[in-house]
Amino acid sequence: MKLTFLGTSCMTPTKERNHSAVLLTYEGDGILIDCGEGTQRQLKIAGLKTTVVNKILISHWHGDHVLGLPGLVQTLGTSEYTKTLRIYGPKGTKEHFNYFAKAFDFDLRIAVEVHDITQPLFFQNNEYELHALPLDHAIPTLGFRFMEKDRRNIDLAKIKAIGMPEGPLLGKLQTNHPVLWRGKTIQPDDVSTIKKGKVIAYVVDTLPCKNAVALAKDADLLIAESSYLSNLEEKAEQYKHMTAKQAAQIAHEAGVKKLVLTHFSQRYKAIDEIREEASAIFPQVVCAEDFLQITKF
Ligand SMILES: [Zn+2]
Ligand SMILES: [Zn+2]
Repeated sequence: MKLTFLGTSCMTPTKERNHSAVLLTYEGDGILIDCGEGTQRQLKIAGLKTTVVNKILISHWHGDHVLGLPGLVQTLGTSEYTKTLRIYGPKGTKEHFNYFAKAFDFDLRIAVEVHDITQPLFFQNNEYELHALPLDHAIPTLGFRFMEKDRRNIDLAKIKAIGMPEGPLLGKLQTNHPVLWRGKTIQPDDVSTIKKGKVIAYVVDTLPCKNAVALAKDADLLIAESSYLSNLEEKAEQYKHMTAKQAAQIAHEAGVKKLVLTHFSQRYKAIDEIREEASAIFPQVVCAEDFLQITKF
């Protein structure tokens, strides 16, 4: 599991910070969360192929979160891309996608599925679930929650001790089923332990709200916007953004393990003050830079 921050600016990109985008790579999936202008080039600079992306989650349709979408989709169309690109976003996402396909006289060339998210659990497979909840921003905006499923780790020493061969019986135990072995019932808990799945929450472009806390509840990592410092709280409220302090309060209230701040206003050249303001409330905080990678959760 790896997170790569591809853009950490607010509305206006700077020399150091690109528009919003984060890539989560997990078990062969490349889940891109938001796709600000220049995201495809940021992927290349990070040493990643654009073709790793097979899902794009759009938080909302403000330009700083989506202007990179046409470019990325066009490039995938000229690449050896055999996957289906699945795009998920708030109500209206399908319509927006069709508009830009028209605006740029697009030759799509790749398989694309576009989904308006209508329920909190909008995707799941054997490995993980993706959830979304509405946030409080100027236009329909979603926050996201990635939940890795719990797994059973089989203790091979215990398996060896009871003389069980590797094969279908282990598969059954792994999927929580007891098995009969040499006249005895073996429970999954006898020979394995549960490894808790990791949780990552993404809460940007919002005022503090209940759903922000719900998305972040007990997460291993919360990615939250911190457009302003507290001395500009009124401005934050006017534009429906959060301050560093408010983001830290959400992390604290939700009981997350680690907070990563992003989406900084271009007025902050040095980010120390933002970190200091947040860490007074929630010490386990990091301010993201473009190309920051996180592999330990
Ligand atoms: Zn934004
Ligand atoms: Zn916005």
